[in-house]
Amino acid sequence: MRVLIVEDDKVLREGLSRYLHDAGYQVDAATSGSEADTILVHEDYDLVILDIGLPGLDGFEVLRRMRSRSRYVPALILTARDSLDDRVHGLDMGADDYLVKPFALLEIEARIRAVVRRGQATADAKIVYGALVLDSAARRAWLAGQPLKLTAREWSILEYLVLRAGKMVNKDQIVSAISGCDEDVSYNSIEVYISRLRSKLELAGIRIRSVRGFGYYLDKQADTTS
Ligand code: CA
Repeated sequence: MRVLIVEDDKVLREGLSRYLHDAGYQVDAATSGSEADTILVHEDYDLVILDIGLPGLDGFEVLRRMRSRSRYVPALILTARDSLDDRVHGLDMGADDYLVKPFALLEIEARIRAVVRRGQATADAKIVYGALVLDSAARRAWLAGQPLKLTAREWSILEYLVLRAGKMVNKDQIVSAISGCDEDVSYNSIEVYISRLRSKLELAGIRIRSVRGFGYYLDKQADTTS
């Protein structure tokens, strides 16, 4: 299991790295938010342990960028003792759990197991949206029981929209979500992918609605709800 530790405190970072390494994890470490962000664009992890107070990009910004990408990576945030706001804000932003410093190393291992278990349940589950079924692990889709042919980019955009069904997403979010695996995606091309997805989905009553100046959201006819 691959873990990325993002912590600027050298003693804590090295102690945690050594402890988790000895416990059998494959551990990488980053010392700043921007370093972590760069690593996360290119590498896959099963868990990110993320300090909030970091030089450069703080932990919240690293988390925000993580959650704008299509692949879900569980995040355990580390917060200072008195900052209840940080904990609440972190969970609101999609952290899976938090630990308050200082913490016992035994405790972090138990939390890691719980977070990763929940993360795997999320990754293994098929996502159902009306007549549409997505298998994120296999990157396959079915519409009304029939396999749905999608290009890699169409797949990424559709998964991104389905995971945020009913919520507005803008082009910037879509571009940053899919540019992790494919660097040369342009802002304008998003419209083309959306238009292709629309024609593939409309027969099954699933619509990608656009709101001028805001973005897109996924919508389905009430009678297709299962
Ligand atoms: Ca710190």
